[in-house]
Amino acid sequence: MLVRNLAVALLMCVAVACFAQTPGNSPGGPRQIPSFDVTAMDKAADPCVDFYHYACGSWIKNNPIPPDKSRWGRFDELYENNLYILRDILVQAQGPGKHSASEKMVGDFYAACMDEASIEQKGTAPLAPELERIKDIKTKADLIKVVAYMHENATPALFAFFPQPDMHDSNQTIAYIDQGGITLPDRDYYVKDDPKSVETRQKYVEHVEKMFQLAGDKPDIAAMEAETVLAIETRLAQASMDRTVRRDPKTRDHKMTVAEISAAAPNFDLAVYLASNGAPKFTTLNVGNPDFFKQVNSQLDSVPLADWKTYLRWKAITGHAQLLTKAFVEEDFLFNGKYMSGQQEMEPRWKRCVKATDQNLGMALGELYVDKTFGPEGKERTLKMVKAIENAMQQDIGQLSWMSDTTKKQAYAKLNAIVNNIGYPDKWRDYSSVVITSDDYFGNSVRAGSFEVKRQYNKIDKPTDRGDWNMTPPTVNAYYRPPMNDINFPAGILQPPFYGKLMDDAVNYGGIGVVIGHELTHGFDDQGRKYDAQGNFQDWWAPEDGKEFEQRADCTAKEYSSFVAVKDDKGEVKLNGKLTLGENTADNGGLKLAYMALMNTIGHTAGKPIDGFTPAQRFFLAYGQIWCQNVTDQEARKRVLTDPHSPGEWRVNGAVQNSAAFEQAFGCKAGQPMVSENACRVW
Ligand SMILES: [Zn+2]
Repeated sequence: MLVRNLAVALLMCVAVACFAQTPGNSPGGPRQIPSFDVTAMDKAADPCVDFYHYACGSWIKNNPIPPDKSRWGRFDELYENNLYILRDILVQAQGPGKHSASEKMVGDFYAACMDEASIEQKGTAPLAPELERIKDIKTKADLIKVVAYMHENATPALFAFFPQPDMHDSNQTIAYIDQGGITLPDRDYYVKDDPKSVETRQKYVEHVEKMFQLAGDKPDIAAMEAETVLAIETRLAQASMDRTVRRDPKTRDHKMTVAEISAAAPNFDLAVYLASNGAPKFTTLNVGNPDFFKQVNSQLDSVPLADWKTYLRWKAITGHAQLLTKAFVEEDFLFNGKYMSGQQEMEPRWKRCVKATDQNLGMALGELYVDKTFGPEGKERTLKMVKAIENAMQQDIGQLSWMSDTTKKQAYAKLNAIVNNIGYPDKWRDYSSVVITSDDYFGNSVRAGSFEVKRQYNKIDKPTDRGDWNMTPPTVNAYYRPPMNDINFPAGILQPPFYGKLMDDAVNYGGIGVVIGHELTHGFDDQGRKYDAQGNFQDWWAPEDGKEFEQRADCTAKEYSSFVAVKDDKGEVKLNGKLTLGENTADNGGLKLAYMALMNTIGHTAGKPIDGFTPAQRFFLAYGQIWCQNVTDQEARKRVLTDPHSPGEWRVNGAVQNSAAFEQAFGCKAGQPMVSENACRVW
């Protein structure tokens, strides 16, 4: 479902600063994950030389990447455990006895996904109407109508359409259109000329060709079609803005009337698109990248209609590949999993089906998950820590020597306005209008996809629904939303290794405490700081304070740009310090705030050692151990281009190098690698 849900995923990530990128995934069954694990350490290493290795060395050595994963870390262990818990829920939901409507629905969805015999028997039949619709396109206007239909059914193509709060009036949600339509994970794959990018495009064309053949096309035709797809997607990529540039909200801030954008890009027939996509009528919208629409406008005319039809056929095939027979699923894996990510084997079907249920009916499954694992007392405990860390931030802002009192006042106002959402939403989603049967995986997924799209479209031109969550409760992640000014912690992350009921404060502050501090800091990172307390894109900084901030952020960007992310036989790739700046700022800020909150809680004393470590040392070790991980070279390369987060090693070593408290806790000396000569401190 990775590909099919791209539209929704894209929609989320525009507005959200997450704690972690999508988890990679464990063999065997669920296990108890310790919050703090002395056996994970390599005590022979020097914490002041390579702290990541000191905290994680033995874990890294003893936990190779399972064949069905491209990355394996302690973070992923938790996610994998969740899959087992969710499977139990799904299997019980189909068992004997009385079941609630939610149980029946998620149980049937999972059962239909697991019913591979029935999926094989249907073959390509479920896809046929989708391809038929494209075949029937006679004019460019028909083409746009089919794009509208595909979007309405959660299949990405050509560009993106979604709702978001108005950047200048966050209480109101409006429609957005934006660049889109490519299939590879980033525009760079299409436009870069290094040998690896050239190889990737060649493998991609071979993959597209095989998929067309599976859909019934003759080999020579399929080969030509694949070249056409690459040519069209390359043009879409060339018209697309770079991911790093797009981080700045100013580059995406273009409110226009429908008439204005229609006049600027007439060949898109936006009036036809909007009349047929099922969204409510409106007159103004935000255009994320007007140049994309202007550039692709001429191509809509110059590229033959037959080629556009080939492109749409490809988007329909790849968008539904995971819902089809084994042959499609395997070919999809060989390219996207094995070649692109270095994953050796496909995950067992049940794991993919649990994930698909979470992605399609996640709030129904989440309700059952929360009943089983979380409960109101979890909410209570987390809220207490959130308050402690918010207090630390208040204190931190007060102590800043470079910020004027005028700006500090505004910063306090923003901090005090942050809304804390813990565990699960106040109101559960009503899926009762979605038809789910136990023998129609393809249909179930399409109906759940279009339900979600409709739910999103219905937000357009209405007051912003601040209670709607972007992640499902079992998700092991957390996020901050600049337009909402809220922090959100799904129930999935509120457990070991992040939070242990029986653990000492030092360990819990080093785990979930840093996550909380990280999300809070996002409201004040290089982009988050551009939004005010209400979530409007509006500068509240005195100009000289803004300059001081930029200097400090620049220090962080340069520092992380010097870190090597991958070194393999294809060469060395360094981190993109500008792409990862927001996340690195949040890691550094989060670590500082959580440490301050811990000291405020336990009283600034050395404290009693446990397992031979002082509370301060346990705090940093707990933080370091969250990020113990192994990753394939392929996955690491992909993430350098696409992931705004640094790899585990640098999330740890990058942040501790800038921390005076770390230096003190481990008695490190100037000149040692974990004591940065020029420490970068924003917050
Ligand atoms: Zn983050």
